Amino acid sequence: MHCPFCAHPDTKVIDSRLVADGSQVRRRRECLACGERYTTFESAELVMPKIIKTDGTREPFNEAKLRTGLAKAVEKRPVSVEDLEAAINKILSQIRALGEREVPSTVVGELIIEALRGLDEVAYVRFASVYRRFKDVNAFREEIDKLQSDSKE
Ligand SMILES: [Zn+2]
Repeated sequence: MHCPFCAHPDTKVIDSRLVADGSQVRRRRECLACGERYTTFESAELVMPKIIKTDGTREPFNEAKLRTGLAKAVEKRPVSVEDLEAAINKILSQIRALGEREVPSTVVGELIIEALRGLDEVAYVRFASVYRRFKDVNAFREEIDKLQSDSKE
């Protein structure tokens, strides 16, 4: 690829390693002309299924929306960008692994909830409470209790 600093067409890969559970390749490149170094991330481009919304309409899978939702859930929580990125990649590969052309939005929601659960408990409850729209305080309390008993194990 062209150097983003001087547009020289040749760069040298100086380091290459797998990241995000092996679903991405991170490459350090050095421009042969100006000597600037930069990083590229490479991942396979796979077609994501369409999302079936609760009202039955279909919409293209929106990765930006997934990112926004997750970022909002972990806001002001001790979650690193790398961990969040890994969670996003995990959700994406789980959706692809379903091998369906269309996936209900509820399935995606549950995958997000599961991923958040492993990431941060507060973020998990935040997202789950909005997403599942807990019918009453008791349902919400049950979820909190479940979390507390899980963490004691
Ligand atoms: Zn350059």
